[in-house]
Amino acid sequence: MKVFLNPGHCPGVDCGAVNNDYGVTEAAIVREVGDMVADYLRKAGCEVKLLQSDNLAGESPNYPNVCASANNWPADVFVSLHCNAAASEQANGTECFVFSHWSASDSLAACIQSQIVNSLGTLDRGVKEGPRLIVLHNTTMPAVLVELAFISNDVDCQKLIDRKKDFAAAIARGVTDYIQERGE
Ligand SMILES: [Zn+2]
Repeated sequence: MKVFLNPGHCPGVDCGAVNNDYGVTEAAIVREVGDMVADYLRKAGCEVKLLQSDNLAGESPNYPNVCASANNWPADVFVSLHCNAAASEQANGTECFVFSHWSASDSLAACIQSQIVNSLGTLDRGVKEGPRLIVLHNTTMPAVLVELAFISNDVDCQKLIDRKKDFAAAIARGVTDYIQERGE
């Protein structure tokens, strides 16, 4: 099983969402979590590639192309990692996006979503359709974009800082649950 991990954004170029009170950026958090997910999945017997790049599908040619790398490998599963943010500091929880419901992507997302909310105790915001998200639109394998938690919410942000290992283990278990479900 070949798993492609895409921590969102690009440190030094696009830091993603930030929480200035805590001095943390989305790009750095998801990179750390992504590296740990890669370790867990390799130990579970998966082949893993990880790419964090500002070039999702050809729009920034100076950087490696995320979707093309996953498609050309070709990956069996694609997981993009992000932190959510909202103007309201109250907004919190975990959600996953897929190109469309009733798909292999939807099953993969359900596995990851339930592992995270059960392990981290974050609010379950569910699996949603995001057909316009570039990494879901331009990849050819089951693909999920995970919004781990809200960097803009104090309780969620503290979890993103203190419990990266738990997020990573939950995401890795979600992927292996999906693999087992598919009988592969
Ligand atoms: Zn993001």
